[in-house]
Amino acid sequence: MGTHETAGGRPTRPTRRTFLTASAAATAATVAAPLAATPAAATDAVTPPGPGHPVRPQPPDRELAALLREIDRDRIEATVRRLAAFGTRHTLSDQNDPVRGIGAARDWIHAQLTGYAAASGGRMTVELQSYVQQPASRIPTATTITNVVATLRGDTAPDRVYVITGHYDSRATDVMDAVSDAPGADDDSSGVAVVMELARVLATRRSEATIVLAAVAGEEQGLYGSAYLAGRLKAAGVDVQGMFSNDIVGSSTADDGTRDPRSVRLFAEGVPTAETPAEASVRQSVGGENDSPSRQLARFVSDVACNGATGMRVRVIYRRDRYLRGSDHISFLREGWPAGRFTEPNEDFAHQHQDVRVVDGVQYGDLPEFCDFDYITRVARVNGATLWSLAQAPGTPKGVTVVTTNLTNDTTLRWQRGTEPDLAGYEVVWRETTAPEWQKVLPVGDVTEVTIDLSKDNVFFGVRAVDRTGHRSPVAFPKPGS
Ligand SMILES: [Zn+2]
Repeated sequence: MGTHETAGGRPTRPTRRTFLTASAAATAATVAAPLAATPAAATDAVTPPGPGHPVRPQPPDRELAALLREIDRDRIEATVRRLAAFGTRHTLSDQNDPVRGIGAARDWIHAQLTGYAAASGGRMTVELQSYVQQPASRIPTATTITNVVATLRGDTAPDRVYVITGHYDSRATDVMDAVSDAPGADDDSSGVAVVMELARVLATRRSEATIVLAAVAGEEQGLYGSAYLAGRLKAAGVDVQGMFSNDIVGSSTADDGTRDPRSVRLFAEGVPTAETPAEASVRQSVGGENDSPSRQLARFVSDVACNGATGMRVRVIYRRDRYLRGSDHISFLREGWPAGRFTEPNEDFAHQHQDVRVVDGVQYGDLPEFCDFDYITRVARVNGATLWSLAQAPGTPKGVTVVTTNLTNDTTLRWQRGTEPDLAGYEVVWRETTAPEWQKVLPVGDVTEVTIDLSKDNVFFGVRAVDRTGHRSPVAFPKPGS
């Protein structure tokens, strides 16, 4: 199960009644159905009494709708098939062979992105970002690792950066096997195809903030390329306000044949990977284990990317990644930046990290024939709606505090005013402590302090910025302060 589709193919939100009915059915059958903790279910819940009006999703404006329509299924399919045709893209494979191996793939991706950037009027630059990784876990000899990075420089907030990645390295059954075929169509040509297609459609546009679109290497050996990319951004002093790894976004079919073509999982951690002991102490005093910057980013994705223009439902999972597993967003979480990982709704383990072979009539291996190119296209639209909505909105408010100078039964919030030229003002959002999503919103105008007649002891508050055309930032969760 898992699809919520009408005959017309548009995703629908389950009604309260169907949700309960389906939950009861799931319980009776004792199956792990993808129903719980969805934004759809939360939105249907009764909003609590108190100040403000119910929170509503942010619909795509005309400019974004046009961008999403340009995302081209056939180009995505061609990219996945081309990358699979390099035989293997293992990080330790040949870097000089023009036909087979990771070097040939690297040069092809670079040439494609450079071609897209030519339409950008100089706003998009493409670089081969290389370093030599000395021997380490899963790297037996010094190895050059190269990311292919396209950067669309922002017009008005160039130092504020949003990043998406896919990893172009691949693997076979043995993670150290650099010569066997490893087509890596789903893992992770699909993610690279998302990155490359968005680079193509974004190259012709002007963005307010900077967008980085990267095909990284060394993921299967231990997140090496993304760690280097994150480290370079850190050293450059840029302010990364959101990052997404697209890793295994190629198929909508589970190993039991179940199809769920209109949902994508977004893994987002609660307690931050880079939390310091002092920050942990504050969290223990005020709550906030469901209010990390990554959780606010995930709520933003649900807000802007679950609609008719993407045709998708985003199923946020309250976990850093799949059970005991990882991807390139962890490199960004380690630097203290909000990040998440998009991945398909159900994985088929016969089609990933497997030598290409037939056993008892069953085809193993990560082959393009197991990809759903319409599905990858919709995942690209989720990424496009997210990136564009982030980059055109004001940045996440900074310096947000709950004023705790005196004990009171109301709540005073303060923050720093942003510097965006089109900044219009701020909204305070709040929710019951047990609610997964923000429930009520109060527009408070172009101010930097407000007092709300509601106790900070009983609900959670957040603050977001709004521009003159209604683009909203992700929510900032306040710290206690003055
Ligand atoms: Zn992967």
